[in-house]
Amino acid sequence: MSYTEEVYERVVAQNPGEPEFHQAVKEVLDSLKVVIDKNEEEYRKLSILERLVEPERIISFKVPWIDDNGTVQVNKGYRVQFNSAIGPYKGGLRFHPSVNQGILKFLGFEQTFKNSLTGLPIGGGKGGSNFDPKGKSDREVMAFCQSFMTELCKYIGADTDVPAGDIGVGGREIGYLFGQYKRIRGLYEGVLTGKGLSFGGSLIRTEATGYGVVYMLNEIAKAHNDSVEGKTIVVTGSGNVAIYAVEKATQLGAKVVAMNDSNGYIYDPNGINLDVVKDIKEVKRGRIKEYADRVEGATYTEGLGIWNIKCDIYLPCATQNELGLDGAKTLVANGCKYVVEGANMPTTLDATTYLQENGVLFMPGKAANAGGVATSALEMSQNSMRLSWTREEVDEKLHNIMIDIFHKADDAAKRYGMEDNYVVGANIAGFEKVVDAMKAQGI
Ligand code: GLU
Repeated sequence: MSYTEEVYERVVAQNPGEPEFHQAVKEVLDSLKVVIDKNEEEYRKLSILERLVEPERIISFKVPWIDDNGTVQVNKGYRVQFNSAIGPYKGGLRFHPSVNQGILKFLGFEQTFKNSLTGLPIGGGKGGSNFDPKGKSDREVMAFCQSFMTELCKYIGADTDVPAGDIGVGGREIGYLFGQYKRIRGLYEGVLTGKGLSFGGSLIRTEATGYGVVYMLNEIAKAHNDSVEGKTIVVTGSGNVAIYAVEKATQLGAKVVAMNDSNGYIYDPNGINLDVVKDIKEVKRGRIKEYADRVEGATYTEGLGIWNIKCDIYLPCATQNELGLDGAKTLVANGCKYVVEGANMPTTLDATTYLQENGVLFMPGKAANAGGVATSALEMSQNSMRLSWTREEVDEKLHNIMIDIFHKADDAAKRYGMEDNYVVGANIAGFEKVVDAMKAQGI
């Protein structure tokens, strides 16, 4: 058995009931095979892979809070501090009923490579809760966030671990979490990113992940003598990442014709009217279905199947494993040429392989959606320096970071004779820096 296979078997055996974590490890180890084979003796001696797949620390805790009926509710809270080789732990908090330790381990593992790719000094972490913000009042969300931070605040800090948002955690939640951190610890420091602009947040952080996805798409297209202009795009999801991917793609002259949420999808042949989507999702916190009632010519279809809509470019920006083999086959049959992941691991392993084998240019989330965390790192820098950069300054830095990530992934793939295989390229480029830092710091 090869070293990568051995380590993968061990991960499966030692982490039962965590399929998403196994999947993320498999994707990374399989694509690192070319590098590992070359350095096998050294890596085995240093147990590099065994160390890389084991989180440095997992904190899990109880989150009691009182709902609007006066009843005490209890949720689970976690922070996975995965790898601090290149900087303080950095990564979002996810509040969603599906959250469990295995999902957060997959996300923390992915985050380690993603953060490395940004070129900025941030390690990998992830946290969250199985709390479901859907349908909760503002007061309930505040009560939950305060209880969550009452425990989490013992383990984080501006130079140790800096959480941010993810699914179910946006500006409102970050505000409540920050307030509680400050209240308990008495420290006004950049302990969270994605903060409001009035208390240390960075311009462009809200837009960064979605904009970054499209900056990445643009680089891939340019490298293949193509452009985003005039293309038909399907963007899945309707959260923060999806909304700002639609905004940037539209600015670059593409037409986005569909979006979805966990209930169903909308199709608008005239191009999505983003003001309506923002009003539904950001202001009213409603469901995407409403779009079809408000916009002439738009339709709503209940359930999955957004991939049936014909497009040149597909940007999955919702959640893990949303695009499987059937969806991938339909995309290819309908002539889709690019899949660029805005979410973390939205494409299953078999679907990824199918897309790559059928000539689709595929960029994995750890490279394509890194603009969010990169801009978080820019927020950290601004907080440390106690100043704020302008919108243009941050946007330019974000754009350059995405161009740089594209070249890192592209160059690494070429170096190992696997041109256009950005899965391999991104994993190798992310891995090399983390391993270098781990080796330098001893055990
Ligand atoms: N949750 C985002 C991600 O998956 C952003 C994390 C951050 O800004 O720390 O990368």
